[in-house]
Amino acid sequence: MSVQIDHLLHESRRFPPSPEFAASSVATESLYTDAAADRLGFWAEQARDLLHWHKPFTRTLDWTNPPFAKWFDDGELNVAYNCLDRHVLAGNGDRIALHWEGEPGDSRAISYAQLTTEVKRAANVLLGLGVRAGDRVAIYLPMIPEAVVAMLAVARIGAVHSVIFGGFSAESLRSRIDDAEAVVVITADGGYRKGRATPLKPAVDAALASGDSSVHTVLVVERTGGDVEWNERDKWWHEELAGVSDEHEAQPFPAENPLFILYTSGTTGKPKGILHTSGGYLTQVAFTHKNVFDLKPEKDVFWCTADVGWITGHSYVVYGPLANGATQVLYEGTPDTPHPGRWWEIIEKYKVSILYTAPTAIRTFMKIGRQEPQKFDLTSLRLLGSVGEPINPEAWMWYREVIGNQLTPVVDTWWQTETGAIMISALPGLTEAKPGAAQVAIPGVSIDVIGEDGEHVGHGNGGLLVVTEPWPSMLRGIWGDPERYIETYWEKFQDAPNGPLYFAGDGARLDRDGDIWLLGRVDDVMNVSGHRLSTAEIESSLVAHGVVAEAAVVGAHDDTTGQAVVAFVIIKYSQTDAASHADISAVLRAHVTLQIGAIARPREIHIVTELPKTRSGKIMRRLLRDVAEGREIGDTTTLADTSIMQIISASMR
Ligand code: ATP
Ligand code: MG
Repeated sequence: MSVQIDHLLHESRRFPPSPEFAASSVATESLYTDAAADRLGFWAEQARDLLHWHKPFTRTLDWTNPPFAKWFDDGELNVAYNCLDRHVLAGNGDRIALHWEGEPGDSRAISYAQLTTEVKRAANVLLGLGVRAGDRVAIYLPMIPEAVVAMLAVARIGAVHSVIFGGFSAESLRSRIDDAEAVVVITADGGYRKGRATPLKPAVDAALASGDSSVHTVLVVERTGGDVEWNERDKWWHEELAGVSDEHEAQPFPAENPLFILYTSGTTGKPKGILHTSGGYLTQVAFTHKNVFDLKPEKDVFWCTADVGWITGHSYVVYGPLANGATQVLYEGTPDTPHPGRWWEIIEKYKVSILYTAPTAIRTFMKIGRQEPQKFDLTSLRLLGSVGEPINPEAWMWYREVIGNQLTPVVDTWWQTETGAIMISALPGLTEAKPGAAQVAIPGVSIDVIGEDGEHVGHGNGGLLVVTEPWPSMLRGIWGDPERYIETYWEKFQDAPNGPLYFAGDGARLDRDGDIWLLGRVDDVMNVSGHRLSTAEIESSLVAHGVVAEAAVVGAHDDTTGQAVVAFVIIKYSQTDAASHADISAVLRAHVTLQIGAIARPREIHIVTELPKTRSGKIMRRLLRDVAEGREIGDTTTLADTSIMQIISASMR
């Protein structure tokens, strides 16, 4: 069977940057030409320009034992020093690092000098607890400044953090603590979500209840002031920090010192503990944060809405923005609390200039309608970014039009937990944007789209997305499991002529200009009468119809065509009374036929009110496939709301 993925959707809208935006662009064409001329020299220069090295490196890349890479490995640096002290020493201590906004409306503005002091204290606390370089510390916190402080304090002493998203259960927490053999857990009494104080510590207590874990101390941040049960291993964060010095000199660590372990979202199955190290990771996150977001640190207010429990939060809330000395917003709560315009209110309040969020959020706002954002002044925005799933062209247009005032560039950024930093994205001052396309590899990254045979597919064709050369922020492995690392990512194309290729699991196509369009997971590609159809294209076609806010498409077994397209759609609030479900289904089937052809016409369309999503907001199509094929529903542990599958199944009977 060929992997050629048929390309159906046509998108011809183009948006060049405005002359003003282009004229003041941080990135210049020379980035592409320099990287093309000498890729390793280019990264070495970025590493020297963007970071402070206590001991300069002399070797850029060691790829003598693929797929185990070492970058800048004889150099030494301190990651936290790069994110904090050096900005203070450069005279920017008064610059605001974090504008933190709590869900109930409390707020804190924290300068670089204050953040540095907090991190020094927290580092001293960890040292006092016996934590040493290489030890693992689990962090299970809401989106409060202490989450950033905790991560940087762990990094500062050369230890390794494993941040576990605050929405995970005691069981998920326990398996991640055990996998990393963490010695300390940093948590809070609770956090605010959806207008309520939600306890966190009970999950830690339950996770450690059996008493046989590697954890000796639990540090507890007081956030909600709710009652907590107290154990012998527990210590209050504020008491411990108050009891130590705020002097701490950052020691250098080797560039390949592990920085963190982070588990993937679990969209396709059991999460993997991805390992990242220091020098290469920080180089690429700083480089991409600066150039993809056109960052002007003296002027911009950056807001990445991701939780620090995900890779996007690691790279574009903590390490990228702080390494670059940016001012940013950190928000604790949910977008619709206490009212559906909360995000827009925050943008108005802090004059956010760069917003980075996920298609799932954009489509939710589309469902509610443009009247909400239109109540607020969003004119401070000058650049918008998207990450996490393919962004449908219609969602891209809405984002630019309604949030970006018809003016701002929109960058669609493709990357993964494994890649550590952005890999494919337009550079907003240089690239003519195409709605729905991630477009081009960033300078210094080598991407290809190939067939099962390893051959380049050529312009106009679809296939498998691969990274053909090692990159600075690449994962260094799966924690404790080198075999699984090789098998999962490198085995498929291990015999490529120039060394093994990294296979990401995603399908993509190259358009006639050679620009890259993501087509969704290869596992989700459907085979209808011998045609290989991408979920992303049919979903985009559905979302392009005025009544649809969000759509998920799966292939279900079909006696005649092999597989048939089954769609699940969410109708916009403003359209819910418009017609009966039967009418809407008929209209949408005709719409898809017209837009992309009869081959893509859904056999069934189910109108639903929610879609199954991971806690990071990605659609879990494998569960919908179970429903569509009448099977028992598979593993739902990484689902944000487990009741959704029952509701969807019930609505189909
Ligand atoms: P798991 O690997 O456990 O199944 P996951 O792949 O969802 O989970 P992440 O590392 O958070 O975990 O997500 C990376 C994936 O998200 C990519 O492989 C891709 O499928 C998708 N993705 C991210 N950004 C984009 C984008 N801009 N366009 C299309 N897809 C994207
Ligand atoms: Mg993945």
